[in-house]
Amino acid sequence: MPTLVMKFGGTSVANLERIANVAEKISREVERGYNVIVIVSAMSGKTNELIGWVNDTSDIYDAREYDAVVASGENVTAGLMALRLQEMGVSARSWQGWQVPINTTSAHSAARFVSIPRDNIEAKFAEGFRVAVVAGFQGVSPEGRITTLGRGGSDTTAVAFAAAFEAERCDIYTDVDGVYTTDPRITAKARKLDKISYEEMLELASLGAKVLQTRSVELAMRYGVRLRVLSSFDETDETSGTMVCDEEEIMESKVVSGIAFSRDEAKVTLVTVEDRPGIAAAIFGPLADAGVNVDMIVQNISEKDYDEVHPGAVTDMTFSCPIDQINRARKAMENAKANGSINYENLIVDADVSKVSVVGIGMRSHTGVAAKMFRALAAEGVNIKVISTSEIKISVLIDRKYIELAVQTLHDEFDLGAPADDV
Ligand code: ADP
Ligand code: ASP
Ligand code: MG
Repeated sequence: MPTLVMKFGGTSVANLERIANVAEKISREVERGYNVIVIVSAMSGKTNELIGWVNDTSDIYDAREYDAVVASGENVTAGLMALRLQEMGVSARSWQGWQVPINTTSAHSAARFVSIPRDNIEAKFAEGFRVAVVAGFQGVSPEGRITTLGRGGSDTTAVAFAAAFEAERCDIYTDVDGVYTTDPRITAKARKLDKISYEEMLELASLGAKVLQTRSVELAMRYGVRLRVLSSFDETDETSGTMVCDEEEIMESKVVSGIAFSRDEAKVTLVTVEDRPGIAAAIFGPLADAGVNVDMIVQNISEKDYDEVHPGAVTDMTFSCPIDQINRARKAMENAKANGSINYENLIVDADVSKVSVVGIGMRSHTGVAAKMFRALAAEGVNIKVISTSEIKISVLIDRKYIELAVQTLHDEFDLGAPADDV
């Protein structure tokens, strides 16, 4: 029998009524002849609540216990979903990560898949079970402890199962009916895309569009998984939602295909560090060791360069990172200064910044996108603090209060609300 993977996010399983609603969707696919692997998230809000409980219990950050607690949200949904399906006469069994087993690395709270052996689930299918309900977001380390995959990780569980079981498709059911040109909650002009390339989706996800976890898109691209995003609240069929697929399958041609944003960023500037070989390594080494995900980096000549007080060459170094890592970043820099490996006059933190990015494979062959983006932001009086580019994206850091305005302005500027012409 062909296998189908169906993943349901937190809002889609937020209460018993919604669990019953999506169980109907699963049952329909069983009737169509699929063996179904269902991946479930925790009920919406549950993971945040569990993280809050861990933080309120202890200041000691023990990632093993964090994972033990936080993974439990998915276990509840998996059991309830299997029960509901049984009620409907569909033979279903729930699976926690260790029971499959979903083998991961031991990088607690950010674990990666090592292997997903098929034997146990296949043995159950062979007995006549038609649905395996797997708890998303979790796995088991080589030491036999529970691990989790990072926020939004159930998407990645789904794609990994689709690859491991060579599923016909991986359907990600969520609270929007597909991937849009930007978050539809920010502008009503956002338009649903029928198809998007793996590469563009990867950029959008990594730049803040949380509709899919970045790692899930990476895996789908690597293993050629047919990945689809669709609504768990609408009636859906074969043509619903957005397909994430190879570039060659896409007929639309727009230079920019989407806009992503990440609200909670912070910017750190080290004022007047020595300008010498090895200084970047001395700064970013300790930041990496402290688990700080440095994003944008700018090095520029300091105003104080060549003055009498600082006869040697000096530079200012600016970097950005997620706002919740700012204390770790500050501490790492203070320690590096205290042990003499770097020296700086001042450490300035700007915690009120956000990042907005335009993404499109068309940028490979078109020039002028950056100029157009900067002009549009300037016309609205939005100051750009840091810029970074890659082959298919341009990102800028701006004051957080302008984020909605910036997304809406760029969405209009690149005419994303209107359908593209076919090539
Ligand atoms: P789930 O709980 O199902 O995993 P998420 O909340 O993680 O759902 O992701 C879905 C949300 O992603 C949507 O509600 C939407 O606000 C947001 N989102 C951000 N960018 C986009 C985009 N480009 N297209 C669609 N949704 C987006
Ligand atoms: N429940 C986890 C989270 O909220 C994983 C997921 O839903 O994908 O991050
Ligand atoms: Mg999600």
